[in-house]
Order: sequence, then C-alpha cells, then structure tokens
Amino acid sequence: MNTSADAAELRAALRTVAEPGTLLEAEADTAPFLLDQRRQYQGRALAVALPRSVAEVSRLLAWCNARHVGVVPQGGNTGYCGGATPDESGRQLVIGLQRLNRIRAIDAADYAMTIEAGCLLAQAQRAAAEAGRFFPLELGSAGSCQIGGNLATNAGGLNVLRFGMARDLALGIEAVLPDGRVIQHLRSLRKDNTGYDLRGLLIGSEGTLGIITAATLKLWPQLRSTATALAAVPNAAAAVSLLARLRTLAAERLNSYELLPRAALDLVIRHIEAVADPLGARHDWYVLCELSSFAIEPLDALLEQILGDAMAAGEVLDAALAPSERARTNLWRLRENVPEAQRRAGPSLKHDISVPVARLPEFIAQAAAWVQEQVPEGTLIAYGHAGDGNLHFNISFLRGTAAALVAAQEPLIRRAIHDLVAAHGGSFSAEHGIGRLKVGELERYASSAEMATMREIKRALDPNGIMNPGKVLAAG
Ligand SMILES: Cc1cc2nc3c(=O)[nH]c(=O)nc-3n(C[C@H](O)[C@H](O)[C@H](O)COP(=O)(O)OP(=O)(O)OC[C@H]3O[C@@H](n4cnc5c(N)ncnc54)[C@H](O)[C@@H]3O)c2cc1C
Repeated sequence: MNTSADAAELRAALRTVAEPGTLLEAEADTAPFLLDQRRQYQGRALAVALPRSVAEVSRLLAWCNARHVGVVPQGGNTGYCGGATPDESGRQLVIGLQRLNRIRAIDAADYAMTIEAGCLLAQAQRAAAEAGRFFPLELGSAGSCQIGGNLATNAGGLNVLRFGMARDLALGIEAVLPDGRVIQHLRSLRKDNTGYDLRGLLIGSEGTLGIITAATLKLWPQLRSTATALAAVPNAAAAVSLLARLRTLAAERLNSYELLPRAALDLVIRHIEAVADPLGARHDWYVLCELSSFAIEPLDALLEQILGDAMAAGEVLDAALAPSERARTNLWRLRENVPEAQRRAGPSLKHDISVPVARLPEFIAQAAAWVQEQVPEGTLIAYGHAGDGNLHFNISFLRGTAAALVAAQEPLIRRAIHDLVAAHGGSFSAEHGIGRLKVGELERYASSAEMATMREIKRALDPNGIMNPGKVLAAG
C-alpha cells in the first residue's frame, strides 16, 4: 500500500545507504527532476539521488531491489517520451547521473574514449576535439543531454547518415544491473565476438534493464573540410532524387540531409531572433545538406557542381552555399530551431516516424492529404532527418488553442499517422524511443513474438520490475 508513512520510512532507510549530500528531498530541489521537458508528465518521487560513484549507484540499486522500490534513471531530462519522469505514486527513486561526469580516458591512437554517463554530449564532443579527434553524435540538445541518456535512448540526430546512431558509436559499456551487480565491458576493441551482445541490449533499453554508468566510444579523425547548402526543391520526390545523387557523387562525404517544408522555415523566421531566409523567393520544400571530409578537399566546389547538375535536371530550384563558418551556422540555425519555434508558436502533436527513404514522397503525400482533410485547423510541419527516412511529422496549432481540444484529437491523429507509417513498412518511433508515451504503440505494432521476448528479457534481468516501471513495457 502506498501510504505516506511507508514513504517516510523508506526515505529514512535510504538516508542510511546514500552518501551524505546524495539525496535531494526538499520540493524545491526535486522539482526540476519531476517534470519532463515537454511538460507532459508531472511525477512525484521518494527522493532524487545524485550519486558520485559507480559503487554508490550499485548500493542504491541493490537497496531498491531488496525493497521493490522503483528506480527512474535520469540523464539531462531532454527526452521526448516521458521516460525519465517518475510516476505519480511518490514511491520511486529518481537517480540522476549528472555527478558521474568524468572523462576517464582518451586514447587518440586507438580512436576511443571512455567517459562517464553523466558527461554532457557537448562535453564529450569537446573532450574528443581537444585530443585532436571527432565524436560525431550531434543533437540539438547537445548542451543539456548526457551520454548515458544518449545511449539509453539510442539517440540519432544529424549525422546518422554517415556515422550511425548512438549504438553504432559505442564500443564498450559499464552498467549497474538492478540487483547492484556491475557489468564492466569497457573495451575499445573493434573486434570482440564473445557471447551475447549485452552492450547492444543495454543501449536503447531506456533505463528499464539497468543504469549505464560509463561507455567507451568510437572516435574519428577531426573533420578538415565541410560544405553546407540550403537547396529549394520542387517536392519531396525531388528531395529523394537529390539524396541519391549526392550519395552517388559525394559518397561517404554526405553526413547530413535534412528536409524542411516552407511552413517550418516560416515558423523559425517568425519566432526566432536573427534568422533569415537565404534564398530570395519562397519555395515549398528545402533540404539542408552537408558534406564533410577528414582530408583537405574542395568540397564547396563538389557540392556546387552536384547542385548545379541537379538544377539542370529540375531537382533543385535554387540553392545557397554557406561561404563561411558563420553562414554555415546560420543555415543550421534554420533547422535546429524548428522545435523551439514550434514550442513558441503554440501546442503541437509530434510523431517521430521513419519509412524507407524511397517511400517518403508517397507517405508525405498521403499523410498530408489526411491531415488537411481531418485537421484543417492544424499546420503540418513535417521536417527532419530525411536522409535516414526519419521525419518529425508534427502538427502545430495556433497559440491559444485549448490544450484539451488538441488532446482530444490526439488519439485519432496518432492512430491514422502510425497506421500509415506501418503500411509503408516504417517505424512509429525512429529515434526518440518508447518511454511512457508510446508503450501502447509498441504493443500495437510489435509482433507477439517480439513482445514476449522483450518481456522475458525484462523478467530475466529485472525480476522485481524495479527499473523504470511502466516505461517501454507496461508495468506488472
Ligand atoms: C532541442 C532538442 C533536440 C533533440 N534532437 C534530437 C535528435 O536529433 N535525435 C534524437 O535522437 N533525440 C533528440 N532529442 C531528444 C533527446 O535529447 C534524446 O533522446 C537524448 O538522447 C536524451 O538524453 P538525456 O540525457 O536528456 O536523457 P533523459 O531524457 O534524461 O532520459 C531518457 C531515457 O533514458 C533513460 N536514461 C537516462 N540516462 C540513463 C542512464 N545513464 N542509464 C540508463 N538509463 C538512462 C531515462 O530513464 C529515460 O528513459 C532532442 C531533444 C531536444 C530537447
């Protein structure tokens, strides 16, 4: 039974396990950990623990496991699916990883670094750069998300086309299992076929199987040449043709390929300071593409040539190449500020979907027609990592639209879009994970054999069901 007497007793016992200064209990201190960044979930907690060592994480988990106390791991709290927010019972312990933030080792010769889970992504990128290396994970939230959270969600981002998702960037992992045992497999080996891939299993498990405390990450040489352009294209089909052209002619140099509809550009220009449309005329669709190389190469000339040929073929209507680092930053600001512009514009419904790249045009046409007919008061903002077939298929409503009105439409819209995604062989969660938000969607779209296997894995590693209950899989 969840009584406050229980909670008080548990808290008193917890104080004997945690190091001095680890536990936050006052409402003002715990509040930021109890609300997800999209403000969709407001939880309560027994306390928030901010451990300083792996040994302390292990002690806390063993203690929670023995008492069947739910544990919610939290990184930078930038996730989009409510995965890092405790439930409303007030009986779960939030474990924040921010104090486990050491760079343990960088081996430039081995192109690898071992860092703790609480390092911010931006800190990891900086550490690699200071060692003359490049860590390619890049998200708009780099200044606030943590490596542990990136691995727990198998984050994607802007460079997936060339470097892969977070799982592809990790060579080794250290994690604490629910009973307090520590798996330490922090090898920088490129070749290591020794048994089941526990690293791969823990990555993407969203805190439901254990707490990631450190990882060994792959590094690359520093990039020495970059070319970036915003190209207006007549339609989504042209965007897909241009992608194929770039992949053929620039090969592995193509690292980013982002699709932006005019409605997204308009939102950014209206709501974000100091951004401007670099092209004169208005167009319906744009792609932001970037080439990069580890060598010194004339990439601007290559990109100009490819875009020029594409223009002659009717795939591109107009294009602006960034002539300087500042211009490049400005082009990226158009793309990276879409989520913030959408937030400022009013309420929105978000869908993080992917379909095979070749199916993008048909999917967009069908889904947009459905939205236009069924949600005429909404503006479709379908943008994102089109090079990976990943779109943030969002519907924005005018500021002042009642939250209840938006919420009432959500189930119908979600169902229509996700069913269409499934019909095109796609995924209802391309890079944001399941968290609490999409537990029902996973049950709907995964096969019964997949669901049963996931439940068996969960039972085997976490028999008491303490790790992030109700996230990814329904509790119980
Ligand atoms: C502006 C903006 C842009 C974004 N862009 C992208 C993008 O391009 N691509 C993308 O994939 N995501 C993007 N995101 C979403 C988010 O930043 C990522 O999901 C990120 O990986 C979450 O990291 P975090 O540290 O904030 O984790 P949290 O939000 O704190 O946690 C996310 C999940 O991981 C679990 N978790 C956290 N740390 C650990 C740990 N150490 N061990 C075990 N479990 C843990 C939590 O319990 C939760 O289930 C964006 C978010 C914002 C706000």
